[in-house]
Formats: sequence, structure tokens, C-alpha cells
Amino acid sequence: MKISIVGGGYVGLITGACLAEMGHEVKIIDVDEKKVNAINSAKPPIYEKGLEDLLIRHSGKNLTAGSDFSSVRDSELSIICVGTPQNKDGSADLGYIISAAESVGKELKIFDGYHVVAVKSTVPPGTTTGIVLPTIMKASENNSCIGFAMNPEFLREGIAVGDFMNPDRIVIGSVDKRAGDLVESVYSGFNTKILRTGIVSAEMIKYASNSFLATKISFSNEIGNICKTLGIDVYEVMGGVGLDHRISPYFLNAGCGFGGSCFPKDVSALIHFARLKGTDPVLLESVLKVNQMQPLVIVDILKKHLGSLEGKRITVLGLAFKGDTDDVRDSRAIPVIEALIADKAEVHVYDPMANKNMKELFPVIICHESAEDALKDSDGCLVMTEWPEFSRLNKEFDTMKNRLIIEGRRILNVPDAEGICW
Ligand code: NAD
Repeated sequence: MKISIVGGGYVGLITGACLAEMGHEVKIIDVDEKKVNAINSAKPPIYEKGLEDLLIRHSGKNLTAGSDFSSVRDSELSIICVGTPQNKDGSADLGYIISAAESVGKELKIFDGYHVVAVKSTVPPGTTTGIVLPTIMKASENNSCIGFAMNPEFLREGIAVGDFMNPDRIVIGSVDKRAGDLVESVYSGFNTKILRTGIVSAEMIKYASNSFLATKISFSNEIGNICKTLGIDVYEVMGGVGLDHRISPYFLNAGCGFGGSCFPKDVSALIHFARLKGTDPVLLESVLKVNQMQPLVIVDILKKHLGSLEGKRITVLGLAFKGDTDDVRDSRAIPVIEALIADKAEVHVYDPMANKNMKELFPVIICHESAEDALKDSDGCLVMTEWPEFSRLNKEFDTMKNRLIIEGRRILNVPDAEGICW
């Protein structure tokens, strides 16, 4: 099928590359020329395992990128994958969605085939029918040949290609059967459950899924903080909890909280949406509150050991919001670095991929090319990301002034490391 993907970021690029791998003819449309050029030169603008191989196989063949929308007219399906960042008030910023919908609609003005517009971006319930549909209808001057669908994405950064190709489920919400059928046919080569729903339910499934996962993490962290006061290991406790099939063992890892471009903003957007609808999302508010407080717990532990941090050399190992990515959006290392700087510590950092991105946020931090370099003469070390290479560190900590090691993620294999909540 000929498919146009609007927005070539994490979701759009992975979707485009994977659908090209499945044999579709894909055009990625992005307003960012740099991204467009990178995709066309088979150089991934983001790091994702397996992505470069896909681009090398398909770029310039059945996967191309550009910044004009003319391919929409030539496609059967447009998939909108632009960002929906957080507004200051916590709501979702739908500016990129509206602009993308206008551009797609204009292209469909003089068009007489059947074309489906599917929203893959995470959007508040009601957005596809309440905002995208009327925007496209207006821009296309009420072209009746357009169908609408909502197809939320559940991939995880770091393992995005694997997740896209082997999803737990594919959710397709549509206004009518014809539009849903067309989107479903795109996934005919996938061996997974396809769930057909109403369009607003599809939008809500995505928010409810992310909110539930975020809740599991905040719950585990709260239990972890209690376990620490008891001197017991929260991982032993949650290991026992997770054996209950009603709970499942996944996403019960206590630590310094969740970050990234999705969980914090999606929970915030759902809270905002719930309030607009006149409900009181007490649980979701608590999930975010626990998550805001949790990274500061590690700084408190550090201060208990060191007293004032003024002039102390503190090493932060891990800056990305999780392993296997260079993405620092809402990383839990951010509030920790903020607190260390506010306490006048000298902050030395190392991350295998995210040094550059964090340096842009905090020019004052001192970046190192290895954990060993970052640890030299350090007064204390905080581990903030579960990079596998950290599990092999041990003698490197000997170069610190003294081995004060506190981990916010359970990754180290040294007996003298203290856990944030274990
Ligand atoms: P992103 O910021 O990485 O990419 C968005 C892209 O859209 C950018 O490249 C931007 O240049 C482009 N863009 C913006 N306006 C445009 C326009 N009018 N026309 C064409 N291109 C335009 O965002 P992302 O992480 O890919 O997220 C996209 C959506 O998918 C969001 O709603 C997000 O919540 C959701 N989502 C993200 C993930 C994830 O792990 N990143 C997972 C599931 C769902």
C-alpha cells in the first residue's frame, strides 16, 4: 500500500521504516529538513537498535522522505505521527496535530479516490473526531472520500523496532468499518491480536495504558520507600507480589521514577482532561506526585552521607531517561542535576549516549567519555540510568575519594552500593 507518514520523529520514522520492511511504499513527510535529509541518506536521526539496517535496506527504494505533502494525494493512507507535547497547564498541545491535519486536508481538496487519515499520535479522547476530522474536512472543502481512524502506538524507545514488529496488540479505532478495514489491511503481515474499537476508545486505550504503567511504577516506588525504612529489599517484595497473575511481574521495578517523552506528559494530559470533564483524578495526581518526589530521595540520601554538597564533586552515571537511548526528555537525572547545582556541587557526568543532550540543558555540567573518568576523585556517585555497562563497574569506583555509591536503578553488582529504596 502507498502510505504517507506525517512526522518523522521516533514514532513516525519507526512506523515508516517498519512498514517499508513489510513491503509497503512509504513516504515520510517532516517539516524538519535535517531529518528528511538524514532519512534519505539512510542515516538515522535518532538512535534505535535495528533502525539503521532498515534505512539502509529501504531508503531511496520503498522508503523516501520529503517536506512537501504532495505524496498524500498519491497514497491510500496518511498516518499522523507528529508530537503532542505538554502545555504549561498540563494539557496536550495539539498545535502540531492541527497544522498536520490542515496540510493533509489541503492536499485532499482535489482528490476523488478513497483516502484514510489515521492518527497515531497520542491525543486526548475526542481529538480525532472533534479536531482532526473537522480540520481536514474544512481544508479539503468537505471532500467526502476521506475516512478517519485512530491507531495508537505502544512502542518503547530503545527497543522500538522490535516492539513495532512484534506488538502485544494493534488497536484500530474507526468512525466506520471501511476506514478501519483499510488500516487493518496494513498490518496483515503481523502475527498479533488486532482490536477494533470506536475511535474515542482507541484514544483512551493509549492514555489508560500509559497511566496504568506509570501507576505501577509509582506504586512500587512508594512500597520501596517503606521497605527501606524496614531494612528489607523491595525487589524481593515486588518479586513476590508480581507472581500473582492478576498483577504480573512487569513494571514493578522500584527506583528513581519514570521519565521520557510519554508517561509524564500523558498522565498530565489525562488529569487535565479528567478535570475538564468534571471528574477528580485523585489517583493519577498521586502517581505524578510520587514521581516528582522520588528522584530527590536519592539527593537526600547523598546529603545524609556527605552533609553540605557545596564544592563536593558528585558523579552522575546515566543521563538518558532509560537505557539504550540518547533521549533525556523528562529524565529523572534532570531534577537530580538541578538539585545538585542548587546545592553548589560540582557535577561530573557520564552517559554512553546522552552526554550531549544533557549538556545542552545544563552547560555547567562536566561530561566525561567513560564512567572511570567521571568517577575520579569523586565524593559521591549517583546512578540514574540502567545502562548494562554499569553492571560491570567495580574497581572503577576505587578511584573515588571514598566509595559512596547510591543507585536509583537496580543495575550495579557491587556489594557496597546503597539503593534509593532498597
Ligand atoms: P517527535 O517529536 O520525536 O517527532 C515528531 C515529528 O513531527 C518531528 O520530527 C517534527 O519535526 C514533526 N512535525 C511536527 N509538525 C509537523 C507537521 N505539521 N508536518 C510534518 N511534520 C511535523 O515525537 P514522537 O516521540 O515521535 O511522538 C509522536 C507522537 O507519538 C506523540 O503524540 C507521542 O506521545 C506519541 N508516542 C510516542 C512514543 C515514543 O516512545 N516516543 C510512543 C508511543 C506514542
